[in-house]
Order: sequence, then structure tokens, then C-alpha cells
Amino acid sequence: MTQQKVRVRFAPSPTGPLHMGGVRTALFNYLFAKKHNGDFLLRIEDTDQTRYVAGAEEYIMEALAWCGINIDEGVREGGKYGPYRQSERKELYREYAQMLIDSGNAYYAFDTAEELDKIRSTCEGKGETFTYNAETRTKLRNSLSMPKGDVEKLIAAGENYVIRFKMAVNVNVTEHDIIRGAVTFNTDRLDDKVLFKSDGMPTYHLANVVDDHLMKITHVIRGEEWLPSMPLHVLLYEKLGWEKPAFAHLPLILKPVGKGKLSKRDGDKMGFPVFPLQWTDPKTGEVSSGYREDGYFPGAFVNMLALLGWNPGTEQEIFSMEELIEAFDLDRVGKSGSKFDPDKAKWFNHQYMQIIESEELSGMFHVFLKEMGIDVPLKYTIKVVSMLKERATFIPDIWEQGYYFFTAPETYDEKTVKKRWKEGVPEMMLQIYTFIKNYKGEWEALAVKEQFSEFVTANEWGFGVVMNAFRLCIVGAALGADLFEICEMIGKDETLNRIEKGVKKIGK
Ligand code: GLU
Repeated sequence: MTQQKVRVRFAPSPTGPLHMGGVRTALFNYLFAKKHNGDFLLRIEDTDQTRYVAGAEEYIMEALAWCGINIDEGVREGGKYGPYRQSERKELYREYAQMLIDSGNAYYAFDTAEELDKIRSTCEGKGETFTYNAETRTKLRNSLSMPKGDVEKLIAAGENYVIRFKMAVNVNVTEHDIIRGAVTFNTDRLDDKVLFKSDGMPTYHLANVVDDHLMKITHVIRGEEWLPSMPLHVLLYEKLGWEKPAFAHLPLILKPVGKGKLSKRDGDKMGFPVFPLQWTDPKTGEVSSGYREDGYFPGAFVNMLALLGWNPGTEQEIFSMEELIEAFDLDRVGKSGSKFDPDKAKWFNHQYMQIIESEELSGMFHVFLKEMGIDVPLKYTIKVVSMLKERATFIPDIWEQGYYFFTAPETYDEKTVKKRWKEGVPEMMLQIYTFIKNYKGEWEALAVKEQFSEFVTANEWGFGVVMNAFRLCIVGAALGADLFEICEMIGKDETLNRIEKGVKKIGK
């Protein structure tokens, strides 16, 4: 066998925002391609003009870019096998539909939508389902049932027609799927699918097969929902006399609880995003949340997705994109669906918070602070981030855990006040104020702590009592980092201000 260059494609239809399942399909294609030094293509399958949604194509590209899934050939990138948008390849498909007609594998069908609807409802009335197939086609208006002359006349008169595939009778089509092994379908269970529509556009099936052939795709890696299309595609390759690509149908991503495929509604109900980026429906204005806007790191999102359906065969859970490429293998993709766990997604984000350098996190936190009108030197933010990232999953958590590094408390936690701000405490805090004001040493956590402790001991105060009250003044609650570190960071003047303010306001 000649070693062909691996070429895969992600072929979404721009009918809305890309679901996280779609991103996973793109990711597995990408990992497989890069693992084998191959090409990853993005092809936009927009032959169904009625389902076209403005902005969806841009959304898809932005989502892939955010995830770090780099496209080798595509709408924006160009490439030798373009155009990569099917609507721009429109002219090209007719010829192949014609080839199938000429070889007797496809036929013209003149039945109108209304005619077919009528037959469908008559069948439904009898509790049957209508299928356009070998049995029914003889009674319908098509080039197999009608005399040749009539067909030619109708075409010459400009009558609307579609081109249908002539499905074989009672043939078992067996195809190897990399993930599922041999899969067999009997053609009697399949219908005469439309390949070419009356609007001059191919359907998904024809366009997909023609493009995969012309674009030299070696592996078709796509979602399980396309498995039923595989026999038709296999037959199309056969009848067109083309070599088939290899197929791999990825398992579904399942709901966190209950049965079935993860859907948009699950996310809304349980409060997690199902889309990589936020999406605003252009028609209804409805906004769906996105991982990016919800504060997930792209690396964490990708890492989480990679492990939905694939496992490395080891205990390792954290993978960079490079490591994923190295470790990925379609053989380790399971057949059965994997349950999506929103808590695990958060867990990954928390892990990435620890992995990402504090400098980089600080850049992000800085943006957050700026939006709140807080402008501090980046060096200061880096210190805060290094101290608190262990307790954070998302960037705003750093604020929740450490707002007091940037602003004096406005309110004081009631429960803590009741418990810690007892009689005599304000007077004690005033003495501490004076002690700090007169403190001459270096304003550094350990040094301050040492002298402060001596002062507390000399006054025979309980250390716990003092520290709790002191913390209440500085932080406003019984939480936060080491108190002397906080004091060092905010500076002596601000420490004094907060004690003064606390004595004035707490318990009042
Ligand atoms: N256009 C199809 C989709 O929207 C592509 C399926 C395939 O990869 O063949 O998912």
C-alpha cells in the first residue's frame, strides 16, 4: 500500500453555533491529522440554504481559533482544493449526479413536494410510513417509471425535478468503522435519497462524498449521528468508481444526568455552557452562554473535551495540545457515549489555574480589575494572583478571595462582628493603631509580625482575640490570606486607615 498523506476535514453546516460535541469532532480530527503529520481542513457545508444562519460560519472559525485548533486549508486559509465553501462549488456537483444517471445508479424524479406530502399523509392514515424506494418508485413520477420520451419532454419544458439515488434491493453493505469494527446495513432499510435538488444544489450526501473525494480526504471522522449515512456514502463511492476513505464515527456526548444526547436545554437547566463561545441568536436575540465568556481557559476546555470519549490508557488527565497530539489514537476512542460532567469541567479549569503562569493570569485579572475601575501596577497583581490562585477556579474568584488587596471593606460581616467585636475591642484596636503608627522597622510581614506579637504579649491580650478583630478591620470578614502579608501589600498607611475606619464603623 502506498503511504498516503493523512487528510481529514471538519465539515460543519452553518446552521447555528457550534455545539461542544461539534468542537470535539473538530478536535479529534485535528489531533488525528497532526499525530500523522497530516492536514486538517475546514469545509463549510452550506448546501441547505433554508437552514443557513447568519454569523454561524464566523462563529465556527472563531471557536476553533479560540481552542487552538489550527486549520491548514479552509475558507479563510485557502488551499489547493478550494473553494472550501460548498455553495461556491455548486456548479461542480451536477456533473457527478449526471454520471450516476448515465450509469443507471440515479434517476430523475418529478414528484412535487405537495404530491409527496399527500402520499405521506395517506400512508400515515393507514398507520404506515412512506418511503421512496424500490417498491414505491414504480408508482411515482420518475424516469424509471415513465416512458423516456415523457421524461425528455418534462425536462425540456423546464419542469422541476430532483435526482435520486437508485438504492439496490436487498444487498448487505458492510463497511469497517475504525471505532466500531464491521458495520452492516441492508439496503432494503434505506430509501432512494435525493442527491440533487430542484434548486440546483446538491444535498449533503452527494456534496459530502464528491468533496471528500476531490479534496483527497483519507479519513472521515464524524459524529455517531452520521453512521446511518455511511452505507449510502459507501455505495456512492462504489458507483462513482472512487476509492473510499476510512470511516470513524465518534460516540455521543451524553447528558450529565438521565439518558440521551447532551442538548442545549440541559445546559440552560443545569447552568453550564454547551457552546464554546457565547452566541446571540440573530433572529430571537436569545443569548446562550459560552465557555469562553464563562471564564474557562481554552486549554482546560480542550483538555476536558479530549477525555470525553477518548482515554490515554494511563492515569494522566492533564494534557497540553502537544501532549494530546502525541498520545491521541482513534483506537482508544470508545464506542459508547460518555456522560458530560460539568463539575469535571470546573476541575480542569482549576487545574489550569495552577498550571498557567501567574504573570499570564495576572494579565487576565488585570483586565478584570480595569473593568472595575481599579488600576494597580501589574507587579502587585502578580503577587496577589500567586497567593490566591490555589483557591480559585475562575479569574473572578481571585477577586472574591482577595478584594481586600485592592479596596477597603465597605461592610463588615455581621456574624463575625457579633462574635469578635466584643466590649473593649475598639479600645484595644486604638492601641494597636498607635503601635503601628509608631512602628519604625521595615514594613515587611515577618518583621511586623514579630514586633506586633511582642506588643500583644506585653499587654497580656489573647493573640486570637486581637487577630480576629484586626482581620475584621482589614478584610471585613473572617477570611483571606495571611494578615501580615495583606498589611505588607496594602502598606502601612492603608493599614492605619482601615483600623481607623473599622473602629468608627464596626458594630455601629
Ligand atoms: N455537514 C455535516 C454536519 O453538519 C457533516 C457530516 C460529516 O462530517 O460528514 O455535521
